Amino acid sequence: MDWNDTPTQTAFRQEVREFIQQRLPNRYRPNADGVPAKGIWEEDRALGTDEEKRASADWVAALRERHWIAPAWPKEYGGAGLTPMEQFLFKLEMTEAEVPSGLPMAVGMLGPTLMVHGTEEQRQEHLPKILSGEVVWAQGYSEPGAGSDLASLTTRATRDGDEYVVNGQKIWTSYAHVADWLFVLVRTDPDAVKHRGISFLLMPRDTPGLSVRPLVNAAFEHHLNETFFDDVRVPVRNRVGEENRGWYVAMTLLDHERSNVTTAVQTKRTINRLIEYANGKGKEQSRIDRLSSIRTAIADRFIEAEVMFNFSLRIISMQVRGLIPNYEASVSKLFGSELTQSLANTGVRAFGLYGQVWDPEHPRAPLNAEHVYSYVNSIPRTIAAGSSEIQRGIIATRGLGLPRG
Ligand SMILES: Cc1cc2nc3c(=O)[nH]c(=O)nc-3n(C[C@H](O)[C@H](O)[C@H](O)COP(=O)(O)OP(=O)(O)OC[C@H]3O[C@@H](n4cnc5c(N)ncnc54)[C@H](O)[C@@H]3O)c2cc1C
Repeated sequence: MDWNDTPTQTAFRQEVREFIQQRLPNRYRPNADGVPAKGIWEEDRALGTDEEKRASADWVAALRERHWIAPAWPKEYGGAGLTPMEQFLFKLEMTEAEVPSGLPMAVGMLGPTLMVHGTEEQRQEHLPKILSGEVVWAQGYSEPGAGSDLASLTTRATRDGDEYVVNGQKIWTSYAHVADWLFVLVRTDPDAVKHRGISFLLMPRDTPGLSVRPLVNAAFEHHLNETFFDDVRVPVRNRVGEENRGWYVAMTLLDHERSNVTTAVQTKRTINRLIEYANGKGKEQSRIDRLSSIRTAIADRFIEAEVMFNFSLRIISMQVRGLIPNYEASVSKLFGSELTQSLANTGVRAFGLYGQVWDPEHPRAPLNAEHVYSYVNSIPRTIAAGSSEIQRGIIATRGLGLPRG
């Protein structure tokens, strides 16, 4: 495959760059050392100060003008209808500029699911509000006893006339505390084979009986939640797809670019930033001159970041040819998440005790404490969205043709 841009691709990249330059609010721009901002517009919109709320609204308005809230959605649904290659370039440029990603639940998961399985009424009610940034969604799938083995879920929905009555618990519900609505998998037939007795429901977060409790992570941040359902009444018209077919609704294959280019570009930028800082402003703090093991580790991470980028190129080259990446996406997820962790480890070690300064504003914190923060915050990367063991299982069976254990 020829990786040189066509004239159209060059023009598109330029358009994205200029857009970011002109419209990205300061709140979401990297600092002078290139360290990315932490703000997430969905969170700002719900919990931010007036200024943060304004930044969130400005950014949503800018994206909406170009239909770039949902770059992959077809134009008929208000998306930009970008091809996988254009989506790839769009993400690449956004990541190169260190623009924080939005939450993927509404645009990446629910929207495409409604396009395929939703009723006309559901599409008309929900899709425009996702595109306007008015409504934030959370995904209620995992339960204390159902994560990797999601089909074991036990949150129960019992039919009562035109409503379901939902009882049970979800866990790790990301951003449920800032969400307006949840899409939830529930068990509607406890006697059926486990994949067959599940339904897919939509419910406002303020439905009586639905409560969200914070789970604060090891970085003292609140992104995750437990969600409890105590006789929560959901109209049957809020079910997506047929009753007991929710598993297949939830597994809808999304026609999205799947290269993981965001992780690939982020790791390349992070390692380059580390090298530049350790050789310049942070020379006094760094141990690079003294320890060959650190130099070797940095070189290893640099090479691995290039490898990661090549995995992304492999996937997008498949999608451009109309192929659906399968175990290749698992390779990229596995490699990218483990690389994020080892890069954070290398970054902390490169600065010795300075590497452990936690306060990003502290003058002795190298690169605003980005590595120690990532060291703690990247722990769940190898669990969320399919753990490393699950990815290895897919690679072993589908990629290498090994027998199931
Ligand atoms: C940061 C974060 C955000 C999340 N956000 C959401 C969200 O918004 N909504 C939501 O519904 N869920 C969310 N999750 C949940 C996530 O999908 C689950 O954590 C994940 O599927 C793993 O499930 P589990 O935590 O129950 O672990 P388990 O499935 O119990 O796994 C425990 C261990 O056993 C291993 N294991 C399990 N099965 C196998 C197997 N077959 N072969 C080999 N090893 C195996 C796993 O790899 C893991 O090491 C989030 C998780 C995290 C960490």
